[in-house]
Amino acid sequence: MAAGTTDPAWKKRLQRKPLPDKSGRVLKLLKQFELSQWRTPDEIAGTQFKQLSRLLAHAQSTIPHYAATTAHIVPADATALRAGRWLDIPVLKRATVNRLGNELLSKEIPPAHGSLDPIYTSGTTGLPVRVVRTRHALDYWSAFTTRDHIWHNRDIDGTLAAIRSSEKNFALYPKGTHHIAWGSKDGVFKTGPSLSLNVSTAIPDMAEWIVRQQPDYILTMPNIIKRLAPWCQENGVTFEGLKEISVIGEMCGDLLRQLSQEAWSVPLHDVYSSREVGYIALQCPINNHYHVQSEGLYLEILDEEDLPCTPGQSGRVVATTLRNFAMPLIRYEIGDHAIMGEPCNCGRGLPVIKSILGREQDVLVLPDGKQSWTLLGSPDVRDFMNMAPIIQYQFAHVADTKIEVRLIVKRPVLPAEEAEIIAWVQKKFAWPFDVVFAYPENLPLTKAGKFKDFVVET
Ligand SMILES: [Zn+2]
Repeated sequence: MAAGTTDPAWKKRLQRKPLPDKSGRVLKLLKQFELSQWRTPDEIAGTQFKQLSRLLAHAQSTIPHYAATTAHIVPADATALRAGRWLDIPVLKRATVNRLGNELLSKEIPPAHGSLDPIYTSGTTGLPVRVVRTRHALDYWSAFTTRDHIWHNRDIDGTLAAIRSSEKNFALYPKGTHHIAWGSKDGVFKTGPSLSLNVSTAIPDMAEWIVRQQPDYILTMPNIIKRLAPWCQENGVTFEGLKEISVIGEMCGDLLRQLSQEAWSVPLHDVYSSREVGYIALQCPINNHYHVQSEGLYLEILDEEDLPCTPGQSGRVVATTLRNFAMPLIRYEIGDHAIMGEPCNCGRGLPVIKSILGREQDVLVLPDGKQSWTLLGSPDVRDFMNMAPIIQYQFAHVADTKIEVRLIVKRPVLPAEEAEIIAWVQKKFAWPFDVVFAYPENLPLTKAGKFKDFVVET
């Protein structure tokens, strides 16, 4: 495939001369990205290790924690780092970032990296962390947002509907809120308007709002699509003019992509990011797997012995933020598990993540101590959904050998249907679990508006 983007509208936008303001800085990065994505994996790793060497030297000399934990490493030797020395740097746990707080802040932040922007993230593990980013790091954030639009050939003159805010009393049905642009008003390129609706909106109201607003694009979380798509299909509701759906914040599998095609005949793309480290990987323009955003972070997937996983093997996601010199996160263990992929046939040299398995606490520990991924994003979940009139479900590991199946249903489930579900659960989770049923009125979202298909309550 030829280098660069193929969409003429995007080609024209990228040909603009960068100005010294935010949009100019981001445009400059995008021009670099247009080239860097096609470099070979070897070239990309070479560039990354030069940056890692600079980052480590900066961290050692201005942050006492890294001076102590990496005293045995000579940062200037990028070749030695790449040859394996990098693996001698201890992995940074979320609990350590939580405990150290501002001690991870550099004493000498390069003035050219601009103003500082702190964020707090509560995370799903209940360990809040505070990360301080520079303007320079946020320019990369903006550039990756735009790269996602370029990769998926979005018409940014269109209307974007975001159903992602869980903020109390914000963007409530029936109005939602209206904004003049997709992102902040000083974005990189002029865009069409955007709209917001709170995630707590009831599904029929949400569908009505979308029909009324006629957006070109929808940005939301997987749990919304899982409920909205079947509802629309059953009630014959289509979204005229809708071109694509993007999802963030929760696990996305092929099941979700199928639901989107069946309900609205539109593609669905996933974005893999975290608040602390920013964009991790974007979905490939032509495949359902992900490309690591190597210009912004160095990503490792490590096995149980902290060694790099080979393609096909699953392990813990460990990221190093390459651009944030205010509070660098070096070998930070995000808490996710993923599978490394083979190089991509699209021609991009950016490393491939085959799939993202979930957070640490989503692992089902079987009674024999073995760990198992519940993989509730895979298409075989449809078999289960078809066994009874299920609207929404949650599986809870409530005791060593017991799974509680929580169901919201259209009518009472028959004993024969429950029996079928029990057999499915035992097969899916690979253990003869004692399966019990609960029929709650609703299944609540987390404070951040997320929903978990599987919870551990042992
Ligand atoms: Zn690709």
